[in-house]
Amino acid sequence: MKEYALYINGSFVDSDTLQSFASLNPYNQETVARIARAGVADTQNAIRAARKAFDDGPWPRMPLTERAAFLKAISDKINERAKELIALEVDDSGSTLRKAKEDIFLSARCMNYFSKLAANELTENIEGLSKPGFSQNLIVHEPIGVVAAIIPWNFPLKMAVWKLGPALAAGNTIVLKPSELTPCTAMELAKICHEVGIPKGVVNIIPGFGEDVGEELAKNPMVDKVSFTGSTVVGRRVMSLASSSLKKCTLECGGKSANIVLDDADLNLAIDGAMYAIFYHAGQCCEAGSRLLLPETIHDDFVGKLVAKTAKIKLGDPKLETTDMGPVISKKQQDRILGYIAKGKSENGTLSSGGGIPSSLELKNGFFVEPTIFTNVENKSTIAQEEIFGPVLSVIKYKTTVDAVRIANDSTYGLGAGVWSSDKVKALSIARRLRAGTVWINEWHLISEKAPFGGYKQSGVGREFGVDGLKEYTETKHLHIDEVGSREKKFWYDTVVPKE
Ligand code: NAD
Repeated sequence: MKEYALYINGSFVDSDTLQSFASLNPYNQETVARIARAGVADTQNAIRAARKAFDDGPWPRMPLTERAAFLKAISDKINERAKELIALEVDDSGSTLRKAKEDIFLSARCMNYFSKLAANELTENIEGLSKPGFSQNLIVHEPIGVVAAIIPWNFPLKMAVWKLGPALAAGNTIVLKPSELTPCTAMELAKICHEVGIPKGVVNIIPGFGEDVGEELAKNPMVDKVSFTGSTVVGRRVMSLASSSLKKCTLECGGKSANIVLDDADLNLAIDGAMYAIFYHAGQCCEAGSRLLLPETIHDDFVGKLVAKTAKIKLGDPKLETTDMGPVISKKQQDRILGYIAKGKSENGTLSSGGGIPSSLELKNGFFVEPTIFTNVENKSTIAQEEIFGPVLSVIKYKTTVDAVRIANDSTYGLGAGVWSSDKVKALSIARRLRAGTVWINEWHLISEKAPFGGYKQSGVGREFGVDGLKEYTETKHLHIDEVGSREKKFWYDTVVPKE
């Protein structure tokens, strides 16, 4: 069994209270690791270390190419240790082997991307602000300061890199809290940061719980920015705590993404796409396509084929290459999902597939939920409005595409959406009307570190990725440099300054 300490100010240390907690494998409930449990005092120590490293240390003032080289070294180490990180991610999070391989590869790629951004000056010239020769005007982007990052459990290493990459590239220092359910690969990332020689205090990683560590990170006045990924409920709480010192906030929250199939879509492709959209990682994706909108004309045929194919999804040991779907993260999450399934039944949805815990003995120790499909769902029902975060699909019938757009937008969320059609012009015109941060046409889940990602409405505040995402970790400064020189030529000379 592995053991992990807190990573604070360049050292691996025990928690102040000497408390620890276990991280469980959701497939068999075996302990994957024992982890030092950070408390409020540890959080304050980590914040103080990050503050000192920002105010007095080399990191924010380091030549850009040097800072970029550190990020590249982290990316290289993730690649070097990929095999071990994949195995750990499978054990700690219940990710299937296929998903974990992709996650580790994408984590390294994302860090490499931010190393390239880190090497480039973001400064821009503002042209035409004054007459030529009167002034030069620059927009410079400077690091914000101490970033507190709080992440969920569905993509443990990827989420850690999504925060560390842009925060470090922009010259900030950081305190990261992984989810208490999946802390292991983030603690391996701490080791990697240590090995590549990131200056002390620049990166601090403190596993712990939301109620104490998370709250302290969100409210501590020495923190300048909070970058949070998690549920909308907790996002609201984080934002309200951060408001006490008017911290900058990026919130990446929940979703209830609508997946619209048009009647001219390639049916086989759209069926596979709908399954991938909802059942990937057992539905535990913020951008999961959890509402499937089907036109009346193809509804029955589509549902018949979708149900038949869903029955073939192989639930099993996530370690095996042949497993399509693993367990959900915890007993609590399993119960929550089953509660929504009961609610769906009570609100008169038709249960067309799944709906329970699989009976197979092989799966009895894991937190499994069958891939579940409800048809005849009304968009106002609970299972169409609330984020379930499990393998539960709500199928909703529509008459016209105007109807489909209205239903898709009738949600408090706005993270992702999709349109399946063989007519790209038509699909694009629908995509433009959908109130969501990412809209896929004939595709799903493809999120790139090069393209901004984030939510409309209650799916979030701000964007991650791309240059927009990097700028979220900066303060913007206007530098005005006078070129007039002589007093008499100043435009303000005749206004308030008394003549001699
Ligand atoms: P969660 O909101 O329960 O927890 C997220 C993180 O917040 C965890 O680290 C947790 O310890 C911490 N936390 C909990 N209470 C806190 C508090 N009072 N103050 C500060 N921090 C606190 O979410 P989860 O169950 O870990 O993850 C699932 C959720 O994450 C889903 O809603 C999903 O949509 C969302 N998510 C969003 C994105 C995105 O990019 N939009 C990506 C992945 C997951």
